[in-house]
Amino acid sequence: MATAVREHLYTRMLRMRRFVAISAMLIVYSSFVYGAHAFGMLRLPDAAFAVAGALTLVGLALLVFGAAVDLDIPRARLSTTMPSAIWAAVALLSTAVLATSPLRLLLLAASLLGLTFSALHLERVQLGKLFAAVWITYSLGVAVGFPTGVMGDAQGALFNWLGYSLALIGGVLVANEVRRLKVELEGRSRELEVALVKVRELAMRDDLTGLYNRRQLMEYLQRQKALADRNTLSFAVCYVDLDHFKRVNDRFGHRQGDDVLRAFADIARRVVREEDFVARMGGEEFVMVLTNATLTDAVRVAERLRRQTQLMVIHPDAPDFAVTASVGIAAYRMREAVEQLLARADTAMYAAKTQGRNRVVVAPEIETEAARGAAAR
Ligand code: GH3
Ligand code: MG
Ligand code: MG
Repeated sequence: MATAVREHLYTRMLRMRRFVAISAMLIVYSSFVYGAHAFGMLRLPDAAFAVAGALTLVGLALLVFGAAVDLDIPRARLSTTMPSAIWAAVALLSTAVLATSPLRLLLLAASLLGLTFSALHLERVQLGKLFAAVWITYSLGVAVGFPTGVMGDAQGALFNWLGYSLALIGGVLVANEVRRLKVELEGRSRELEVALVKVRELAMRDDLTGLYNRRQLMEYLQRQKALADRNTLSFAVCYVDLDHFKRVNDRFGHRQGDDVLRAFADIARRVVREEDFVARMGGEEFVMVLTNATLTDAVRVAERLRRQTQLMVIHPDAPDFAVTASVGIAAYRMREAVEQLLARADTAMYAAKTQGRNRVVVAPEIETEAARGAAAR
């Protein structure tokens, strides 16, 4: 909800900015025409004023249209970029045709500059249309202006027209290059975004098993602790260590050992619920975090894990060879440090080892010397 509001405000801000930009353009243009007229730089005062006045009105209409779009359809994707770009180019050019030499040069240069900038906001086809509109307007202006003597003699008019046409071709090339670079840049930043998401995901995972890594586990436990301390949930952790794992490597090789670790990770993922969390602490040690689980629930999950683990086929040539797991369980106690919680589960896991392995042991509710010692380690 908050995001939607922020997005809406952002859209409105962008539209406001565009509205202000168009208004500024209108004011500058009108002042320019008025100033040029006042200083006698427009050769056909009445016609110039008529055309400038009409164009100003068109600009105003566009402005009102822009405002209406903002008010009525706030989420509409309608863009005023193209109409205002065409308007600005045509307005500048009409004035340029009517202006005397120095002012004409300035206005023609300004129109080229404006066109090149508009390349940042327009598609290739729109850009083509815009340049075509400008060229046609200028050619018409020359055709109309020439017989009235505004453009000077025939040679001068032709030179003028050719020069600007060539400048326009150059402008198209530059504008297209600007547009291409912009598109390329946008593509790159999208690629970077995707890569960043991937890198983040990789940084969270353990390479071998794809389970969460130790750092993610600690962050997750801190979040669970915060919720539990506010009485909004309870949780338990199972600390798992595979028994005599060294023997797997010694007998079947390290690569086979890796396969067994991956197969075990699959089992661990399967025995927990969707909302639970499984991480590889390192080596052949894993931690499962069970959300809103009582100790009884946790024991049930751990037992299922233990039973399925010993059923794994380690190697087809040695059907009797089994891998087993020792599991220590601890339920989170209010305001306990997560390191303390893990240490209690770890101690329970060691108790399972000393009691003969391939078993599940629950950490005592009250703190023991052993747990304190483990926490201090
Ligand atoms: P215990 O029942 O007391 O836990 O015996 P253990 O052999 O499992 O324990 P120990 O800590 O002595 O050895 C753990 C072994 O796990 C040693 C190491 O070769 C193996 N191991 C650790 N990480 C990996 C791994 O990424 N791949 C493979 N293949 N083996 C690993
Ligand atoms: Mg170990
Ligand atoms: Mg082990």
